[in-house]
Formats: sequence, structure tokens, C-alpha cells
Amino acid sequence: MLADVPPPPIHQDPIPYPVQRKRDMRRYAERHYGIASFRLEGPKVIVQHDTANDSYRATWNTFAANVPDPELHERPGTCTHFVIDADGTIHQLVPLSLMCRHTVGLNHTAIGIEHVGRSDAQVMGNRRQLRASLRLTRWLQARFGIATEHVIGHSESLSSPYHRERVDRLKRQTHGDMSRSTMTRYRRMLERDAR
Ligand SMILES: [Zn+2]
Repeated sequence: MLADVPPPPIHQDPIPYPVQRKRDMRRYAERHYGIASFRLEGPKVIVQHDTANDSYRATWNTFAANVPDPELHERPGTCTHFVIDADGTIHQLVPLSLMCRHTVGLNHTAIGIEHVGRSDAQVMGNRRQLRASLRLTRWLQARFGIATEHVIGHSESLSSPYHRERVDRLKRQTHGDMSRSTMTRYRRMLERDAR
């Protein structure tokens, strides 16, 4: 891994993260991880996702609304640190110093990156989006010392050594986005680019 990786261009487009949301996040972290804090400190994992839609704006709106999510019915609302649009624009929605709810079992230590797209194949087949994604991920890896094996897809969350979840019914909960075969290719590209 190169020590000195320049940051890619990042468009700041913050979602509201006021005191109430911080409180919600702290309570969530306490419930699920036993950590009474909303702060992301020394992240160890990067989780890649796709949005299952075609709209950056709709994605931003979903994350901005601090409403209980439709699946687990909890606050804070779901969010992610970065969203990469189909044209390759990298938007940052949340500072890296704050936790975001994007992956059950890993939110205490993971940076989340969403890709606007309906499937892994759509994202992996979009050269501009993929190039932006690899640049952003390499920069984050260098900045936080995150090894390529800890750059994972959402679908791989349960096998991360950093996975932890105190709530019984969620201990095996994951999603299908960014499959292992997609991420095997993705990690190979990261390594190749890093040389
Ligand atoms: Zn996901």
C-alpha cells in the first residue's frame, strides 16, 4: 500500500446530523455494540454497497431523513459516509468522525461507500464510477491503514473479524449487495492499482 495517496475530488453534500441524530446514533451503538458513543474512531473496515436505484438525489433524501428504517424499525435513519454517482462524482454525506448506520454488525468501525446503481454488475461495468470508487477506497486505506482484506462487500459482513452484534435476532443479518465474487474482482483491482 502506498503511504502517500492523494485524495480524489470529493464533493461535500452533508446530510443533517444534528444533536438528536447523534443521540440516536449513540443509543444505537450502545444497544448493538456496547459502545456509548456516536464517534467513529480508527475505522478498521470499508464496506462497499450499491443503492439498488438509479438516483443520487433519492439516495441522499433517504439518508437525510432521520426516520426509522423500513426493515429494522430503528433510529437513527440509515446513512453512509460516501455516495458515488453513476457519473463518477464522489459525494461525502457524513464526516469520517461520525458513525453511520449502513451495515449491521460493523457500524462501530466501518466507513460506508454506496454506489448508485441497480446491481453489482451495473457498478462494476461503469468505468467512471469504478475508477472513482477505487481511488476513494485507496485513499481511505492509506489514510487509516486499512488492509485490502478489510475492504469488503455488504454481503460479506458476517465473515469480518470485526463483526459484532449484541441483539440476538440481528446476529446473522446481512444484505446481498456487493457479493463475494464481485469483491474478489474489486480487491484484485485495488491491489493492482496500488502497485
Ligand atoms: Zn448495502
